[in-house]
Amino acid sequence: MEFNLNKMIRPHLVGVKSYQTLRDSYINKQAVYLDANENPFGEFNRYPDGDPIKLKKKLAEINLAKTENLFLGNGSDELIDLTMRIFCEPTKDSIMIMNPSFVMYEIYAKMNNLQVEKLQLNSDFELEKGKFLNTISTSQAKVLFLCSPNNPTGNSISDLEFYIQNFKGIVVVDEAYIEFSPADSAVKLLYKYPNLIVLKTLSKAFGMAGLRIGVGFASAEIASLFIQLKPPYNISSESQKLALEQLNQVQEIENNIGFILEEKEKLKKGLDQINEVVKIYSSDANFFLIEFKDAQLIYQKLLDKNILTSLRHPNLKNCLRISVGAAQENSELLKVLSEIDEL
Ligand code: PMP
Repeated sequence: MEFNLNKMIRPHLVGVKSYQTLRDSYINKQAVYLDANENPFGEFNRYPDGDPIKLKKKLAEINLAKTENLFLGNGSDELIDLTMRIFCEPTKDSIMIMNPSFVMYEIYAKMNNLQVEKLQLNSDFELEKGKFLNTISTSQAKVLFLCSPNNPTGNSISDLEFYIQNFKGIVVVDEAYIEFSPADSAVKLLYKYPNLIVLKTLSKAFGMAGLRIGVGFASAEIASLFIQLKPPYNISSESQKLALEQLNQVQEIENNIGFILEEKEKLKKGLDQINEVVKIYSSDANFFLIEFKDAQLIYQKLLDKNILTSLRHPNLKNCLRISVGAAQENSELLKVLSEIDEL
């Protein structure tokens, strides 16, 4: 069936115009700025560029994409929320998510008053094609959220294209952890699927969680919808400047990813020696989902030593999600775990 974007958008948003200012065409020019009720004094007195083209160019270059296909959010969290607000009618529409997956999909669905349909993953946390086809045959879900590598399980979706191809609505592929993974990014599928949105973030592999920058990729039509409908000036001027500086340090970013992946291997070997560990799930990300004999106990014992981990979903009984830290942090973790073993 032919994909019709105008039929996907919430009807009252078709053709809507966003907040626009004269300033948009005067970015980086010398002028007398009396149009935006700013304060003439101070270091941060001016509003930032609402659609930061320099940063977008750099991100397009890194991701082998075009700037017209790119849009930015205050973290990819903001883009998840915007996706629902652009395409789903509160109280009427539903989204579809994998279970378990990133918790914010469900939280934003609740905030937007949307129903949530869940695709239960199998015992290896994989999607099953037959089950998927069955579920979508009776579903009216407008947006499907696929997370690959998946948080909190760590594994990637195999044959991602199959799911994009078969879903009638919008498919969001959340690639927050893709740079840690050997898998290819779905950005290169954009030319084939007009219903595809890919989300990335500078919070993980790029090490800039504090700057709050999420990056969306989609057809030029969808990208301009997000740009029209996002909150004005959603990326602060400091974030724009610092992100651009960091992104120019490609070698440092690559070294850090390499270091994290080496540490991940070492951590895995260390965890294999811990008696309390029942299973370490295979991970393409910078964390492990680990089943313990008693996860609650381990969680508390680690917390008593000021080591914070994440006690996962109620349906992931006895599992903790543990990030790969710096060498010193990982050895502290292993030391405390081996002490618990000896109790
Ligand atoms: N998607 C996934 C799968 C995540 O794990 C996270 C952060 N934990 C996000 C999106 C949000 O990232 P941010 O808002 O920092 O870009």
